Amino acid sequence: MSFSVLERLRRRVGFRLSLWFVLLFLLSSAALFGLTYYLLAAAIQNRERILLEARLKDAGRLYATGGIRALKDWVQTQPPKLQKMFFVRLVSGGNSVTLLNEPEDWVTFRDTVTDWETYRQHEGDLFRRPMDEEKDLVLDSALLPDGVLLQIGRATNNRETLLHLLRESFVLVGGVTVVLSFLAGNLFAYRAMRPVRQIVATAQAILRTGQLDARVPARTSNDEFDELVRLFNTLLDRNEALIRAMREALDNVAHDLRTPLTRLRGMAELALSPRADPAAAPEALADCVEESERVLAMLNTLMDITEAEAGMMKLAREPVDLGQLAREVVELYQYVAEEKKITLHSELGGPCEVNVDRNRIRQVFANLLDNAIKYTPANGSVTITVRNEPSQAVAIFRDTGMGIPAAEQEKIWARLYRGDKSRSQRGLGLGLSLVKAVVEAHGGKVTVASKPNEGSEFTVRLPKTSPTL
Ligand code: ADP
Repeated sequence: MSFSVLERLRRRVGFRLSLWFVLLFLLSSAALFGLTYYLLAAAIQNRERILLEARLKDAGRLYATGGIRALKDWVQTQPPKLQKMFFVRLVSGGNSVTLLNEPEDWVTFRDTVTDWETYRQHEGDLFRRPMDEEKDLVLDSALLPDGVLLQIGRATNNRETLLHLLRESFVLVGGVTVVLSFLAGNLFAYRAMRPVRQIVATAQAILRTGQLDARVPARTSNDEFDELVRLFNTLLDRNEALIRAMREALDNVAHDLRTPLTRLRGMAELALSPRADPAAAPEALADCVEESERVLAMLNTLMDITEAEAGMMKLAREPVDLGQLAREVVELYQYVAEEKKITLHSELGGPCEVNVDRNRIRQVFANLLDNAIKYTPANGSVTITVRNEPSQAVAIFRDTGMGIPAAEQEKIWARLYRGDKSRSQRGLGLGLSLVKAVVEAHGGKVTVASKPNEGSEFTVRLPKTSPTL
């Protein structure tokens, strides 16, 4: 495997996770195995010691009652298998061996075990010497009352065989488990990381091709990755909407400003032309100022509408009593209404609190009231009603004005649209677009009901809970 492939693997989260898990597994199973091995070895050794001690005691008792003869008979009457397994020796003073049953394995260290000094050093202890890897010999000795040393030993290759088997099984089972768990871990991690790979692929596709409508395929497992995919897609939706809105806004603004700017330029050129009457210059300049103010107002409103439509309008939400807000706006327009001989009525009821941007909603109310007064002839009336409903607040602006033909009712919300009969009135054709954009940015709705020559009714509905993601 080349270095770059290894490096690529190392950078994969799934690979690294699997490696950590395998390491953890190895450490914990080695600890578990070590403990089991130690306990098992200790248990077997203890059992052997007890067995050997019992044999030594039996032999000692036989010697006490029947002397060497009884001990010899005892050895000879043992089944051949046991005779081959047990080492028995009696050593009298001066290191003379008076009885010896010496299985093959013990021959090689005959001298060592008869050594009195060694016995004294290990008195009462288990005397254990490994002969080779397979055989493990243990010896127990007792000094009998008449000064004779009795020694009994046996090969414990059973114990070694068992522990050897245990070691082999651990290496084999552990090895296979490590390889399998590493492969399975990698596979699971690879599958679990699929959404992340899809997110990366989608982001790369968008960056490479500029195709803003690329999305990560939706998932249904309802886990954290689902949430991540959902949020990532929502982010892409928002970005796409924003970029599209910006492009549209740019197009619209360029298109909408062309007419007033051309008009402005026309006026200025006319005033500057050599044939122009110098006395008319101040008036032409005043017209230019007025027109440029209109352009500025239009630009600001257009920007507001675009921002609100793209969901980018910053709303300083706070609890606002809509009744109180309507009262303030009515007060503001009282004079204009009186001038036009229009009566203003308010049906404001009790407190009606919603969480909204005070200034933006004041702008909405002002635009609707301004329109109602503007499009209602003298001696008419305008009524503002604010109503508190369980889940929403409702504000209605009703007038007895010229009304809106059914065919126009859909169009009045569009940017720069002005009704046929409204051209005589001042206006930019942006008021209702702004109203709609701001109300919808608050999660609300605005509707119209109108009959020509009878009057119009605009209804604003604002939810009491703010919309969440
Ligand atoms: P503007 O009032 O500047 O023309 P708006 O966006 O506020 O622009 O309104 C768009 C059009 O909707 C108006 O030109 C008018 O034809 C119609 N309109 C709005 N409000 C009313 C109303 N209360 N009564 C009759 N017509 C209305």
